[in-house]
Amino acid sequence: MEYYNLPYNELIKRNEPLSRYTTFGIGGTAEIFAEPRNSAELKEFIEFGRDSRLPINVIGKGSNVLVNDSGVRGIVIYLARNGFKRVKRENSSIIAGAGVSLPLLVNKSVGWGLGGLEVLTGIPGTVGGAVASNAGGKYGTISECIMSVTTIDIDGRTHQYNREDIDFGYRKNCFLNQIIIEAMLKLKECNRVALLKRSREILQEKNLRQPLSAKSAGCVFKNPEGYCAGALIEQAGLKGQRVGGAIVSEKHANFIINTGNATAANVLELVDAIKGDVLRKFNILLELEIQVW
Ligand SMILES: Cc1cc2nc3c(=O)[nH]c(=O)nc-3n(C[C@H](O)[C@H](O)[C@H](O)COP(=O)(O)OP(=O)(O)OC[C@H]3O[C@@H](n4cnc5c(N)ncnc54)[C@H](O)[C@@H]3O)c2cc1C
Repeated sequence: MEYYNLPYNELIKRNEPLSRYTTFGIGGTAEIFAEPRNSAELKEFIEFGRDSRLPINVIGKGSNVLVNDSGVRGIVIYLARNGFKRVKRENSSIIAGAGVSLPLLVNKSVGWGLGGLEVLTGIPGTVGGAVASNAGGKYGTISECIMSVTTIDIDGRTHQYNREDIDFGYRKNCFLNQIIIEAMLKLKECNRVALLKRSREILQEKNLRQPLSAKSAGCVFKNPEGYCAGALIEQAGLKGQRVGGAIVSEKHANFIINTGNATAANVLELVDAIKGDVLRKFNILLELEIQVW
């Protein structure tokens, strides 16, 4: 299919393998992969997608996404250009573009002696992805620092949401059908050395418990209320369970790892096996945390 009216042909790739853009290293191609340089270009891609009735997806670092082997129809927007990577400090607040690397922002905030984001140490991804999923864990979540979020909707309109307008929840996306372009974070002036120490402690603790350097998308399932998904999977005896190149991590049972040649079909078969076993043994239905495209 040809798209003669696609804006900015030099900013798109056709049939781009998404395995290059996900931490799982798995997945088929994006029909159209677009890298706008700024919000104006982003709006043009959004309007083109709407007028051509093409689905639009946005990808950050792909650290919470499993792309199907058959790939993704429509436009995948990648906010990795400089226009989405600005970081600006204003007293104890930081304004960060959606494409900013979350680990980089954590390091910057710690270096500036601004506390609040160090609790996100060890989480890969971008600011956009972190805001979309309210990333975090037992140390805290990004929502605790958010003052406002700027988005563009599927009609190309810009919105700014203040903290009080956002109904944050556990791994809940409050910005469905919108593209986050920027977030303002309110932090606290703190002792830089103490923040650095805390950040290092968190990373050390995570390294002990999680396979941080393996090819994965982090925790596959959400924690059911009152339970820990990883513990349920472990108690069901599923650590080390394998389908093709996909295996349940021996280190943390809520991580599925691509050992090298896993397909999305392998991961999804393993997901179904885990859900089935946990349901049979504990009568608890696990819900996916990762996004399947
Ligand atoms: C080793 C490892 C450890 C992890 N640990 C944690 C953890 O402790 N806590 C935690 O919460 N997560 C964790 N994750 C999961 C993941 O890193 C986070 O969910 C992260 O915030 C996703 O960011 P991303 O940029 O990679 O988003 P992606 O994976 O690219 O996208 C995830 C979702 O967000 C949407 N999205 C991305 N950018 C935007 C945007 N600009 N506007 C609108 N929607 C957008 C996508 O469309 C998709 O639906 C871990 C992952 C790995 C691989």
